[in-house]
Amino acid sequence: MRVVRQTEHSLTVELGDLTVTMLLDGDTVMVPDCLRGPEGFAPGPGDLVDGRLPLPVRAFLVQGREGCMLIDTGAGRAWHKGLGQLGAALAEAGSGPQEVDVVALTHTHIDHLSGLVDEDGGLAFPNADRIYVATEELMAFRAEPRMIPVLPRLVPLEQGDGPLPGVVAVNAPGHSPGHMAFLVEGRLLVWGDLVHHPLQFARPEVTWKFDEDPDMARSTRAALFDRALAAGWLVAGAHLPHPGIGRLERDGAGYSFHPVTR
Ligand SMILES: [Zn+2]
Repeated sequence: MRVVRQTEHSLTVELGDLTVTMLLDGDTVMVPDCLRGPEGFAPGPGDLVDGRLPLPVRAFLVQGREGCMLIDTGAGRAWHKGLGQLGAALAEAGSGPQEVDVVALTHTHIDHLSGLVDEDGGLAFPNADRIYVATEELMAFRAEPRMIPVLPRLVPLEQGDGPLPGVVAVNAPGHSPGHMAFLVEGRLLVWGDLVHHPLQFARPEVTWKFDEDPDMARSTRAALFDRALAAGWLVAGAHLPHPGIGRLERDGAGYSFHPVTR
């Protein structure tokens, strides 16, 4: 792995025949009680910025000779102010919406699917003829009126599917029923919302208010942390601290995250 390009809102790493680019959709904050721990748990002052939990929102672009795949699409204009900057990050990284051939969602929450449509309600990635959504979440996706223009392009996604050669879908349920991670070149796991705040590395038992099944989210996190460590995978996530790509290490009873650098 090597870092081949870095801008203010993007970072590109090269992995064999593919590159993976982190695209920052924007930064927001959440109230501290979004993190849920055992009796008496509360995030410490070092976990907060001005009394709130920092929450960056990221998407990832995978590019190779066989095409260009976008994993998640950011919040568009549908959620917090300051988000919806994916297009600008894409331009900064030297690409554009026309170049995206395939989109795959880790799950169908608002900060991951909303960027599929532009401000006028049209297709934000007009050349993406396949939009992969986990089978378990197709109903939720179809129920979202803003997604009507996307429906003809919808493709059900199952564990083991490869939306792009060199990319494999890996089940990671809990945060949402069909939550998916994507293993790129057998070396980098783009894990969506497995982690929402860096505190969850030291304390992986801590869950997130919007985990639909907190117990399953916790056990999936433990299992994928162990798999990533055992396999030596790099990891990337939608809400990880800058630059959203790094290495996991065991650290006492928990883990720590080490961002990639040049
Ligand atoms: Zn999210």
